[in-house]
This record gives sequence, C-alpha cells and structure tokens, in this order.
Amino acid sequence: MTRLIALAATAGACFGLTACATHAPSSGLIISNVTVVSPERAQPLEHVYVRILDGRISELSTRPLRGAPQIDGTDRYLIPGLIDSHVHLAVPPGFPSPMTAQQAAAHPETVAAALEQDPRSYLFFGFTTVVDLVGSAERTRQWNAREVRPDAYFCGAAAIIDGEIRYIHFPYFSYDVPMERRIPPVVDPAGHTPEAVVAHMATDGAICVKTIYERGFTPTVEEVRALVTAAHARDMPVFIHANRKRAQAFAVAAGVDVIAHGMWRDPGEDAALDAEAREVLAAIVRDGTGYQPTTQVIAGLLDMLSTDYLARPDVADAYPVALIDVYARQGAVGAPERIRSADLELQARLRGTIGRATEVTRILAEADAHLLFGSDTPSDLIYTNPPGLNGRLEMNNWVAAGVSEKQLFRALTIDNARLLRLERQLGTVEPGKVANLLLLRADPLQSVEAYDTIETVFLHGRPIPRAVLSARKAPAVEASTASADGNN
Ligand SMILES: [Zn+2]
Repeated sequence: MTRLIALAATAGACFGLTACATHAPSSGLIISNVTVVSPERAQPLEHVYVRILDGRISELSTRPLRGAPQIDGTDRYLIPGLIDSHVHLAVPPGFPSPMTAQQAAAHPETVAAALEQDPRSYLFFGFTTVVDLVGSAERTRQWNAREVRPDAYFCGAAAIIDGEIRYIHFPYFSYDVPMERRIPPVVDPAGHTPEAVVAHMATDGAICVKTIYERGFTPTVEEVRALVTAAHARDMPVFIHANRKRAQAFAVAAGVDVIAHGMWRDPGEDAALDAEAREVLAAIVRDGTGYQPTTQVIAGLLDMLSTDYLARPDVADAYPVALIDVYARQGAVGAPERIRSADLELQARLRGTIGRATEVTRILAEADAHLLFGSDTPSDLIYTNPPGLNGRLEMNNWVAAGVSEKQLFRALTIDNARLLRLERQLGTVEPGKVANLLLLRADPLQSVEAYDTIETVFLHGRPIPRAVLSARKAPAVEASTASADGNN
C-alpha cells in the first residue's frame, strides 16, 4: 500500500475506495526491480524493470528504467492476470444466488450492491479476464462498461435438439425465463444451419462456441462435427458441456476443443473409474482435447450443506455483508430441491464424486493433458460459488489432485489465452501485451498460496491495491447503476 501511496503522490492519482478507476499516468508506469514469472520462461527473471505505457507492457529491461512514476517491485513477483475460461455472468436477476425474482425484488439495495461487487471480487482473487460460456452480446457489453472489472468475453451457446440447432439466449438455470425464450424454436430452418448459427454468434461478438451433451440434449456425432467445422472455419474453439463418461467419449469422437466439466457419474455408477472411463481419459490425452475439471462444482454443492459456510473470512471478501445476511436468513431457499433435502446419502455420494473428479484430474495431470482453467462460477442456483473465490478454491482442488504449480499457472494464463485466440494480447508478461498483471509477495510456481499474496492488480495498466477490491470495502452503489443489469 505504501508503494502505491508514493506512486499516487507522484502521479497525482486518486486512491480512495472507488478510486481505482483512475487511469495510469500518461507518462506510463515502471515496476522496478521485480521478479517476472511468466509461463513462456523456463525460469523467473529477477531484478527486472517493466514499463507500462497506454495500458500495455512496452518494455522489459534488466537495467533500471527512468522517466515515469515507479512502483517498487523489490522482493515481489509480477505475473500475468489470471484467465477463468468458464463463468456465467448472465443469471437474471443478475446475481449468482438462490434468489427468486421476488426475493431479489425484496432486497433491491442488496442486489445492487452485489452486482457492483461481483466484478471486483473476480479481480480481488486475481482474475482479470473471464469468459461467459453461455453469454450474450448485451450482457457482456454491460459488464465491460463498468470501470473496474475483468475483461469479459463470451461464447455463443447452441443446443442441438432433434437434429435442430438452436442458439441459446439465456442460461439454462435462468430465473423466471420461460424455456421458449431461452431456446427459441426453429421457425426458419435455412437460418439454422451450423454455419448460420456460428455466423450469428460471431456477428454478436462471441469468440467461442459452446454446446451441450446431456440428458435431453443428445446430438449425433455428425451434428456436433458439423458445428465444430463451422466454428473452426471462423477460428472459434468449441466447448462442450459433457460431465459423464459417455458424454466425454462423445466429445472426443466429435472433435470438440474443450470438455467443460469433470467426469461425474450416472446413477448407479461407481465412484471408482472403470476401464472404459480410463480409456476415455486416454483418448482425451491422445487427442489433446482441452479439459476443465471444475471439481468445485461438486464441492460447492457440498458446501451448501455446511452451516458455517457464510461465516468464512474469504466469503466476506467476495460477498457484501448485506448479501451474506440475506443468504443466512433465507438459507437454501431457491436452491435446487435435491440440495435442500440433502441427506447423509447424498453427502456421501458427493464426496465420492469429488474423489472420482480428483482421480480424473490426477490422471490427466500426470499425462500432461491439455488442462484449461475454468471454474464454472456459478454452476447452479447456490450461493456457494462466490465470484473470484470459487476460482481460487478450484485452484486448490487442482493442486490437491496432483497438478503441479507450473501446470496450474500455464492453465490460468497462456494456455487459456491460446485456446481463446487471445495470446497476442494476454497470457504472458511480454512487451506488446495488455498490462493486466498481478504483483504478489510470493512465487506462484512454489505454492498455490502465493495467489493469496496479491498486493496490486493492474488493469490495462491501472494499479489497483487489492484491499480496495474486497467486498469488505464495497463502495456505495449509485442509483443510476442499480438497474443497469439483468438480461431480461
Ligand atoms: Zn457452466
């Protein structure tokens, strides 16, 4: 903090609570004498001077640089901002919570404060880029219009039902949005070829395509291959929601780029992986298919059954206190029935599935599979997937499963950037890249806890002290922004 106060004095910047929307000084900034940890380097580079100009990294030097305000990086580590390639920003009424529209309407200030805090919480935990997997141009535009938020991108989502491909306009767990609005019926088949749907998504500004293989959504391999071909013709990667053995075997056969989920199990299926499951994993490794374990999806369900979850200190960094109070009073109201009525049997089953997911991650990490970091925040109508924190906890799941700190770091930075065709902008600390950076007190290649030592988040070159991003410091909500969200 003192480093930034010194900077503020020289740069004339404002560092109050909402401050951090200030722009970097026009002369740029220099982070001096820092250790750069970047995924393209075999080793960290020590005693580096990094110049930031016009929101980008303009120079890296091992000799002192002058001519701009300096942030002392002595004994600090500079890394690229983290990328979470699986979030959901569009959950009307706009916030990840087990709230019905009526409950949200009963607490308008709280919902507004939560919406204001949501992007800040992602930044607090180090995520400077997020990808909404079932996104829309409008929601992404609203998000990116804020001053202090991670850069959001989105995938257009398409479901293939009875041979018809439909562009999904709302997430499947939206509140109070009827199915016909979420997945509009096909009225004009010529406008619904894979090429036409992908073209529509690209026109909307999507950078990727998401599809689904699930009960009720069982396309043929040929149908998904056609979607993949259409997406690849526009250089857009294809994600598939596929969270069981059969679905993941399907994903490999269809040639998608990323399997978005760990391998849960069918009713009656054992937690232990059978030979068939292991073959599917071997095929995923062989084909280099991207894989998001998303173990925190299951852990979050289990957390809903904990009575002291909302008292966790890290939750207070992610959710405003007023929102925590609403959740505490409301309990699991609004959460799916299977969670509310959870018995010991369900708890044991969830634990078994976490064990299975951990084993899957271990096998893939050992084979150096193409692991990609995505948290699936929020995965359901539950309050146990807080923005930012959910990703941070998923990072712990990876390491607990045996993923090395180096593999995790790559998956959070350059591998996600490459997958999303954003590697010319993001993913490393190199000249020319967007200055979305994190300054840490510890080396993330040594320990995952280093990510808890973030001091400063640089957003397009703007230094933001981490502490002011916490929900504990939530700024007052201005009336004008309170109704700006929601998708319907
Ligand atoms: Zn998801």
